[in-house]
Amino acid sequence: MYIALISAECAPIAKAGGLGDFVLGLARELVRCGETVEIVLPYYDVLDIAPLADLQVVYEQLRVPFHNEWITCRVFGGKLTEVNCLFIDPQSVHGLFQRRRIYGEQDDAERFAFFARAVLEFMLQSGRQPDILHCNDWQTGLIPVLLYEVYQALGMNRTRVCYTLHNLGYQGRVSETILRQVGLDPQRVMTADRLRDSQDGRLANLLQGGIVYSNFVNTVSPRYAWEIQHTEQGMGLQPLLNTYAHKFGGVLNGIDEEIWNPELDPLIPTNFGVETLPRKALNRQALRSRLGLQTVDKPIMAIVTRLDYQKGVDLIAHGIHDTLAHGGQIVLLGTALDPAIAAQFAQLKQDTAANPDCHLELGYDETLAHLIYAGADLMLIPSRYEPCGLTQMIAMKYGVVPVVRRAGGLADTVFDANYSDQPFELRNGYVFDELTTAGLESALRRALGLWHGYPEYFWQLRVNGMRSDLSWRRPAQRYLAIYAQLRATV
Ligand code: ADP
Repeated sequence: MYIALISAECAPIAKAGGLGDFVLGLARELVRCGETVEIVLPYYDVLDIAPLADLQVVYEQLRVPFHNEWITCRVFGGKLTEVNCLFIDPQSVHGLFQRRRIYGEQDDAERFAFFARAVLEFMLQSGRQPDILHCNDWQTGLIPVLLYEVYQALGMNRTRVCYTLHNLGYQGRVSETILRQVGLDPQRVMTADRLRDSQDGRLANLLQGGIVYSNFVNTVSPRYAWEIQHTEQGMGLQPLLNTYAHKFGGVLNGIDEEIWNPELDPLIPTNFGVETLPRKALNRQALRSRLGLQTVDKPIMAIVTRLDYQKGVDLIAHGIHDTLAHGGQIVLLGTALDPAIAAQFAQLKQDTAANPDCHLELGYDETLAHLIYAGADLMLIPSRYEPCGLTQMIAMKYGVVPVVRRAGGLADTVFDANYSDQPFELRNGYVFDELTTAGLESALRRALGLWHGYPEYFWQLRVNGMRSDLSWRRPAQRYLAIYAQLRATV
């Protein structure tokens, strides 16, 4: 099969979060399975071209209609390890992708609407007919709409679309002018059953458009798939997802085991595996030295996250105090975009500065993140909602026991040591339901209690997590089955 993976992000060359990891991880596994894969991205000025081999212009003079002008683009091609990548580079006066960042611009809607149109125009003009366009999140929601409203009539009638929703907190609610700019007729598509937003009828909802027009829609865990159909986590899209239940499902993400593997990880002081787990203690010591924590007989509770409402920041703050009060040490690595949250954690850092059991690092640091996974014993993830979540999976690979709220992908991957209905060898962490301090404390104190009172059981939980299959192998097979089903309709 020929699969084009279209996205605003790809790790490590243009990554803002989990979407970037998804694109690279899935693409590599599909290539390993023998499929032909192309990742298509905008040519951002912040693109890190260092990991790309053979980067060169592969198509010139791509003329893309947009609003009342034609924008000429170049298309670059390059190889990211074994995966082919294509980058659309518009030569426009608006500097659409020359913004020193991936997202967060006032005209993000125009930027990605243009990208959507340019991708299809490139496929058409260069004579490509992918079997599958695999689109992701609101930035590519217009691709299935344009495919069926415009490009099918121009000959692209063999291509089918799989659309993955990574976070319903971002839906791309935009002015209907955007639709005109990409060449759609608002009278035709701004209807309640197509793109008209159900909460603000003046706006077009690009995620909704993607759901309506794609041949198959999925999200990144079975539990989140259920939550967004049946609870307020659907953020207004519940009725739509129920209408399209016949073409909707959940596929759990994997993690890239070439990057996240304690046996081979070049970024950690001492490599270790299930058979050599005692060596993890050397990483714990290195982590303590690096962050100035005292050496004591206490477990290290880690938090590695965006400090964001979604991640349960109030419970994170409470969990820090509760861990310190009940015989644990704290290491936090986090970034806050929201100024109020940033101020809250800056204050907390100041308040705990003199505590030899606590270190808060406010920033983004990939290398430190690896050391934290390698050295920590527990990881706290009290999310309000979590489409899939990578940190609990990475933690488990590194022998860290996660303490999580039962939400989305956390519920699909973490099984409570005491209360899970899974057999003991599959239990790997602690889970709580209620989004309250009492709920959090119930799980946190059980975890700390096990570490202090029953070290041999705690050891077994670590091993259970390390042994779980969290690779991309199974998820890639699920996507291949979806693609094959879509091909059967051609
Ligand atoms: P989300 O995509 O919602 O931010 P995920 O759990 O899916 O959350 O993915 C988070 C990824 O980003 C993980 O690989 C995690 O290690 C990494 N990460 C999060 N915050 C930081 C940080 N401050 N520094 C380094 N890595 C981080």
